[in-house]
Amino acid sequence: MSRHAIVIGGGIGGLAAALAMHRIGWHAVVLERAAELREIGAGMSQAPNAMRALDELGVGAQARAVGAPTHAAGNLRLPDGRYLQRARPDDAAAMLAFHRADLHQVLLDALPDGWVRTGAEVTAVRQEDSGVTVTYGGVELGGELVVAADGVHSTVRRLLWTDAPPPRFLGRTAWLGIAEMADLPGSITLGPGGYVLIHPISRGRAYWAYVTTAGRPGIRYEEEKTEAARRLATWHEPIPALIEATPDEAVIHIDIRDLAPLPTYVRGRVALLGDAAHAMSPDRGQGAGQSLEDAVVLAAALAGEPAIEAALRRYDAERRPRTQATARGARADGRRTTSAAAYRAMVTMIRLMPASLWRKGIAADGNATWRWRPPHLPSPTTHP
Ligand SMILES: Cc1cc2nc3c(=O)[nH]c(=O)nc-3n(C[C@H](O)[C@H](O)[C@H](O)COP(=O)(O)OP(=O)(O)OC[C@H]3O[C@@H](n4cnc5c(N)ncnc54)[C@H](O)[C@@H]3O)c2cc1C
Repeated sequence: MSRHAIVIGGGIGGLAAALAMHRIGWHAVVLERAAELREIGAGMSQAPNAMRALDELGVGAQARAVGAPTHAAGNLRLPDGRYLQRARPDDAAAMLAFHRADLHQVLLDALPDGWVRTGAEVTAVRQEDSGVTVTYGGVELGGELVVAADGVHSTVRRLLWTDAPPPRFLGRTAWLGIAEMADLPGSITLGPGGYVLIHPISRGRAYWAYVTTAGRPGIRYEEEKTEAARRLATWHEPIPALIEATPDEAVIHIDIRDLAPLPTYVRGRVALLGDAAHAMSPDRGQGAGQSLEDAVVLAAALAGEPAIEAALRRYDAERRPRTQATARGARADGRRTTSAAAYRAMVTMIRLMPASLWRKGIAADGNATWRWRPPHLPSPTTHP
């Protein structure tokens, strides 16, 4: 008889967790509070570590089919257009970029029918010796295990991790958009106080993000696109053209937050996963990638340890150091773009670095984060 998990949250982390459960022969129900299942936001990149996690989940080929190779890490520029480092056209791009909705759909398509319930906002979680029960909209649902993938403002974390402080505003904000613009190679333009990231994505489109400082969270503008365009008017092309080509309603403005390191991701039969466990600043493009890793490691632990508590302890011990180190690194990278002295030092360092060394660092196995290898999940055919 298959074992039963409840996954809270139908974002990339939650769907990946459910898929990982499916791979090891478990049954899962995904409870998503939104009335409709969709990934909000613009684009994202996935590095080799995340692509390996997708491979282990059995959807690597499907993801590659909707992703676009991006040279963003190889093309580093200054606002006046000069290159600090420049990718050669024949360089292999280790990263793929996606429309978020496309990657989300790949995961959703791989789940068995009927596993996702929308309009299901979880408001309570109760643990007993033999299982765990969640409440949503007056319904109670029991399972052996709860995976809380309910995002940076996680309800489950608030209910069960009562000592954990709320997510912290990092003094930074971001405008994001997607426009029709084909054949851009991908780039990062480093300005004082902020940067612009451009990734090509599928079907002749490009994703852009402008990440910069903000004195407080919640500052909003009547016309967000106009504000982003105003701030970037003197930056090199195609930045102004890309913003201009973005439909007004497709420009998103969000504040950047992360989570202080938690002492544990596990309480009894409940495990936090993805942003609920380790929301991080976007500067290493790793948040969702780490949630894909979480999903594979969690399923491998459950497949290898019959007792839930022992499996979750293993998951916690494996994931906490890596995800918290990644979050720490992302936060430090972000700070380098906001302080004037750190910015100057960073630009000098990148400019002086020999191109061959830079290329080595952005190859598939070029850095510690990207080198990660997933544990092997037992094939579903070995399960009844
Ligand atoms: C500007 C920016 C750029 C980024 N770029 C990248 C990138 O290039 N690469 C990358 O890997 N990551 C990137 N990230 C990080 C990435 O977006 C997140 O890490 C990732 O989306 C987290 O996924 P998740 O499933 O954990 O959480 P979420 O996507 O937040 O999903 C949580 C889900 O839970 C649901 N939910 C919440 N509460 C409840 C409840 N009580 N009951 C039921 N459902 C609930 C929500 O509706 C939501 O659907 C970026 C982040 C930002 C801010």
